[in-house]
Amino acid sequence: MSVGMMQDHPLIVSAVLDFAERWYPDVEIVSRTVEGDMHRYTYRDAAGRSRQLANALATLGIRKGDKVGTLAWNGFRHLECYYAIAGSGAVLHTVNPRLFPEQIVYIINHGEDKALFVDTTFLPLIESVRDQLGSVEHIIVMCDRANMPSTDLDGVLCYEELLAAESDHYVWPELDERAASALCYTSGTTGNPKGVLYSHRSMVLHAMAEVSPNSIGMCASDTALILVPQFHVFAWGTTFAALMGGTKIVYPGPHMDGDSISRLLNDEQCTVSLAVPTIWMMLMASLKASGDKLPHLNRVVIGGSACPEAMIRTFQDDYDVRVLHAWGMTETGPLGSMCHLEPKHGSLDDTDQMAIRCKQGKPVYGIDLRIVDESGAPLPHDGVAFGQLQVKGHWVTAGYYRAENDQSVSADGWFNTGDVATIDSDGYMQITDRTKDVIKSGGEWISSIDLENIAVGHADIAEAAVIAVPHPKWDERPLVIAVRKPGTTVSREDLLEHIGSAVARWQIPDDVVFVDELPHGATGKLNKLALREQYGDYRLPTV
Ligand code: AMP
Repeated sequence: MSVGMMQDHPLIVSAVLDFAERWYPDVEIVSRTVEGDMHRYTYRDAAGRSRQLANALATLGIRKGDKVGTLAWNGFRHLECYYAIAGSGAVLHTVNPRLFPEQIVYIINHGEDKALFVDTTFLPLIESVRDQLGSVEHIIVMCDRANMPSTDLDGVLCYEELLAAESDHYVWPELDERAASALCYTSGTTGNPKGVLYSHRSMVLHAMAEVSPNSIGMCASDTALILVPQFHVFAWGTTFAALMGGTKIVYPGPHMDGDSISRLLNDEQCTVSLAVPTIWMMLMASLKASGDKLPHLNRVVIGGSACPEAMIRTFQDDYDVRVLHAWGMTETGPLGSMCHLEPKHGSLDDTDQMAIRCKQGKPVYGIDLRIVDESGAPLPHDGVAFGQLQVKGHWVTAGYYRAENDQSVSADGWFNTGDVATIDSDGYMQITDRTKDVIKSGGEWISSIDLENIAVGHADIAEAAVIAVPHPKWDERPLVIAVRKPGTTVSREDLLEHIGSAVARWQIPDDVVFVDELPHGATGKLNKLALREQYGDYRLPTV
């Protein structure tokens, strides 16, 4: 074999920061702080402060391979933690503060975090569980001295004081690109959270995919409002992709209400933004009330849960914003697939185009997908056959961190996602359900996601969940649990008639329950487990 004669540089996250500082030094990072004011600085400032923080970590005794946790909102200090921790060879562990306290204790202990960086908001949470966090030696509060909360905890440090004591001279170590860079836990609704341990290489390749136009296409002419939390798979990887693309970043801090989002989008002239559907619902309600438009925004990335057709239409028709429907998970970096139309779709009518845009799309280069039946045999790409979605690629987990009896990856190297999907003859993948949410009725499967999307397509429905309820004859039947839009009076019969106009008769849900609010999990998804527990004994009128 003759060996190629090209240079070989490790794919490590500190090189992304170096690149951003050298080539886009003046690009801004704008953050709304926990206190509510706006903070502005540049990539150059972020790089210098990340080096100061790397020195501070060394002073605190953090060594290569040590885990360092963060419990923080989206903001500039959180970004500095990302680069300083991973760049210096330690492992960044972003903890989702919306998990239950017992889960937070579990994952900090399971990760064996040696230090924790916390926003002032989350200090009371840490105070309440401090005595259970045996591995944690240092707690650093992410603010300046003026905003330091009073606390009974011993030895709590102030972020800005820690930085002020350090030089910004620091040479990032040339790490092995396969070394661990970060740790995230999935917020599964059953059992303990499971850890995914990323490598520098996987994160850099994932970010390269996100700057490509077949995915988000983050670039130097963009301003990105990053609504998806930095504690949820690195804000979907954008904390790295933005710096690679030279993209101006806008962080909302904890201010995630519709009015605050709308103001940030327009004041900062954001061109792209990313969030789960629940967040966009809040924005839509705010825009409807204020009558404001979104003159600068040209595209939004929607994922985490299925994006309903009604949302794609509202963005397109009312605000001239293109929706990029994306699928992924903590175990896949997270980006797995993204839906873009192709030239041949230009001649399709609106209904047929929309049918494609509601799908989760094609894998980005670096990822491969397949669907398999219960025996593990691949299923055809015909848009009809559905089965377990499996995934393989440069940023897909090879197994859970310190897990026993881990069967998440098949013998031939495919990760089982737990999602059920179809793939059509053009290669467009569509998620029909989570394996555990699918409704099994009389030997057929009914997609809860399909029914939910149709339900929220009704003009008076704000949000809907569809769950399986036991049925003596059919095994399971669908029940809709819906939230009406304020001031509307849509009835059970109206809603069932609306759903019945779009699905086969046997798929029409057996009943509707109207509620004021639906439960959501730690990442904004509907908590169907809670609904199944609450409505497990629900007596359907068809029984
Ligand atoms: P998480 O690891 O918390 O990001 O959750 C990943 C899960 O969210 C996936 O396995 C899917 O079940 C779900 N998910 C993500 N994106 C989508 C999407 N666009 N449509 C439907 N479900 C999605």
